[in-house]
Amino acid sequence: MLKGKTALVTGSTSGIGQGIAQALAARGANIILNGFGDAAEIEALRSRIASEHGVTVRYQAADMASAEAIAAMMKDAIAEFGAVDVLVNNAGIQHVAPVEDFPVDKWNAILAINLSAAFHTVRSAVPGMKARNWGRIINIASAHALVASPFKSAYVAAKHGIAGFTKTVALELAEHGITANAICPGYVLTPLVEKQIPDTARARGISEAEVVRTVLLAAQPTREFVTVEQVAALALFLAGDAAGSMTGAVIPIDGGWTAH
Ligand code: NAD
Repeated sequence: MLKGKTALVTGSTSGIGQGIAQALAARGANIILNGFGDAAEIEALRSRIASEHGVTVRYQAADMASAEAIAAMMKDAIAEFGAVDVLVNNAGIQHVAPVEDFPVDKWNAILAINLSAAFHTVRSAVPGMKARNWGRIINIASAHALVASPFKSAYVAAKHGIAGFTKTVALELAEHGITANAICPGYVLTPLVEKQIPDTARARGISEAEVVRTVLLAAQPTREFVTVEQVAALALFLAGDAAGSMTGAVIPIDGGWTAH
């Protein structure tokens, strides 16, 4: 389905991004991985995806907080593959604090990585997509692109921002065979979320199972985590030809969270 196409997934050394990169590779796309982590583990991931799926897999260490690093990453990718056909803006960070105490450096980092990075990747990718009259921009937003939670001012602002950015880009590119959509997951049990469970259990004096049901998933009617595989399957659908008429959509996959 994506044979001969190239997909770049930011923040794909872990969690949701890694799942999406694997799913796109399984459909035949060449992959550019990006994100932080242990060099040997990243190399093992890179070579495993390449050998399992018979595709070319590159790794770019670019820091998504840096416009210059993003431009260099995009230039390399386009030089090697001609275009980035499927662009998945997934890298993201979180910080939780009351607004009056919110550290300015954390605010700036969250806005840079969770929002501005997508502007920088998109502006570099669009000329190549236009030349091929085909492209898929998939932004991993969050349920927090649609609703807010206290103490997450920067994250909620950035995620609402990326929803607006997605819609604007969709309108601009609609006549060029290029779609832009945002996926809005609820809680997904990635390493980041997993690490919070034992700490929260200790802090509240309740079991880890209770933390999941009554703290993490309190807003999620299914009381189940969304899985990486479910988010990856939605990304795969958006990358395919069946989704050619879906653009500018901001799509919840959140166990019903944003229904109430
Ligand atoms: P994760 O921490 O498992 O993965 C984040 C990835 O981003 C990692 O590969 C990390 O190295 C990379 N990254 C972080 N800062 C970077 C930077 N400056 N430059 C380059 N790469 C960087 O997290 P995840 O849960 O898989 O989150 C992925 C995306 O999904 C994020 O945008 C997040 O906001 C969104 N999301 C996650 C959840 C959830 O519950 N896990 C819910 C909704 C939305």
